[in-house]
Amino acid sequence: MLSIRHLGKTYANGVRALDDVSLDIPRGMFGLLGPNGAGKSSLMRTLATLQEADRGSATLETAGGKSIDVLRETGLLRRQLGYLPQDFGVYPKVSARDLLNHFAVLKGITTRGQRREVVDALLQQVNLWDVRKRKLGTFSGGMRQRFGIAQALLGDPRLVIVDEPTAGLDPEERNRFLNLLAEIGENVAVILSTHIVEDVTDLCSSMAIMNKGQVLLTGKPADAIAAL
Ligand code: ADP
Ligand code: ADP
Repeated sequence: MLSIRHLGKTYANGVRALDDVSLDIPRGMFGLLGPNGAGKSSLMRTLATLQEADRGSATLETAGGKSIDVLRETGLLRRQLGYLPQDFGVYPKVSARDLLNHFAVLKGITTRGQRREVVDALLQQVNLWDVRKRKLGTFSGGMRQRFGIAQALLGDPRLVIVDEPTAGLDPEERNRFLNLLAEIGENVAVILSTHIVEDVTDLCSSMAIMNKGQVLLTGKPADAIAAL
């Protein structure tokens, strides 16, 4: 579904964060496992076009069978990609529903009626309906991450990328969050970046291991972990 070819990124300080990264990401849950500094966030930010790659390409197949260059495409087609950054911040004094509505405007969902429908359905999907009117500053870490998934799902993306989403969650919230991701992974491609082996073995149907900007190996979690 997503085909990444020869991505390279060297920062201004000389750190080569992505060193010829090529990956084929299928539908379902894909785990991107690697220690801190491996280049996972650099890859996520590049795919989300928050930073530019020095070289390489990333091509997403749309439902209609077209190919989108996700590194260069802007506008409406960007809605095919959802992103939950590692340092996802929320406005603490705004309610969950109001902020999600605001994100929906930014995503280009312009009609008020359509927005209400989409926003309310997402709040229910991530199990925040009962707290939709509460200010985000009162949310626990797990609730915030589930809110983050709701904003990533706005616009019905084909590909959702989540960067270290379970960091700082207690075991119960972690399980809850991962179960939600697994549900989402039944319909779209999800790339889960993590340094926690269990996040991948519990959940992902395929995976890659990164270190020092390079892909070390790819495959099914059981085979890949055994090969380490
Ligand atoms: P560009 O992508 O245009 O090359 P950079 O992201 O390299 O720009 O520039 C921002 C600067 O921020 C870097 O030169 C670096 O000093 C600093 N920086 C930001 N995040 C990090 C990080 N995680 N590790 C080291 N330096 C960082
Ligand atoms: P991970 O997400 O796997 O922890 P990162 O992509 O954050 O890895 O970092 C990869 C390498 O690039 C690290 O050595 C990090 O310090 C460096 N790095 C990340 N962002 C920047 C930046 N903006 N400027 C300079 N160096 C950076």
